[in-house]
Amino acid sequence: MSLATSSPPSAAPGRPIVRLEHISKTFSNGTIALKDMSLTIRAGEFISLLGPSGCGKSTALRMLAGLGEPSSGSIVWPDDKAASKGSEGEIGFVFQEPTLMPWATVFKNVWLPLRLKGISKEAARPRVMEALEMVGLDKFVDSYPRELSGGMKMRVSIARALVTRPRILLMDEPFAALDEITRQKLNDDLLRLWEQFGWTIVFVTHSVFESVYLSSRIVVMAARPGRVIDEIDVDAPHPRGIGFRTSQAYGEYCRRTSESLLSAIGAADHL
Ligand code: ADP
Repeated sequence: MSLATSSPPSAAPGRPIVRLEHISKTFSNGTIALKDMSLTIRAGEFISLLGPSGCGKSTALRMLAGLGEPSSGSIVWPDDKAASKGSEGEIGFVFQEPTLMPWATVFKNVWLPLRLKGISKEAARPRVMEALEMVGLDKFVDSYPRELSGGMKMRVSIARALVTRPRILLMDEPFAALDEITRQKLNDDLLRLWEQFGWTIVFVTHSVFESVYLSSRIVVMAARPGRVIDEIDVDAPHPRGIGFRTSQAYGEYCRRTSESLLSAIGAADHL
């Protein structure tokens, strides 16, 4: 399959894709959004950044996407010849809101990143259709966003992120605004795709249950200042599904992760 980027999830994580090295970010108003964050992201990992509001999850993700520079520390892409930045087009970003162009069809929305690279509609068509098939929306290629449900809009947004065949997919609370059933369905579908294609994903969430279900590794963060306080490997086998969701192992991972999150909140003096 052409969108496969790395080894399957059952294998040990692969080569480092990107390293955050002692990253700190202080905004001009003095807010320390991140303090001394170090993290190595390896090929084929599904990493969740989990933590309370304000702990710097989005800031870290945005800096990985090249949207904002760290105040100190560095972001190293070992495969890149040119210093520290990921090459354009090789990072897929999915926001909490689908951010679609309402006046454009599903096709044109998904084509956009390729169009910006100068790829014509006809040349882009196979890749646009491939991305839409992955998210189960190839039949809706001529629909407009207003004709789609919230979950379908999010699928279009994911297809748009996949169409450039990114080496890393960054997702900022992509399902937080969706109802629980839609959210679970999208979690299942995302996990199936990850299991099938072995993508590298960094997923921001504040849901313990979502992070345990999806991740191979959970990075727990605390606020004020934003920092990493724990890392939890979720070694449960794949494919994961309802069996995992209802298993004792899942319950134990959730308990362990909740404790860590509680200490993150306590560490930030929220209680
Ligand atoms: P999270 O995603 O974990 O909720 P953020 O990364 O959005 O956290 O924010 C971390 C901290 O940085 C928060 O205190 C937030 O208010 C602050 N912050 C984020 N963006 C800016 C900005 N552009 N200017 C000033 N402060 C910001």
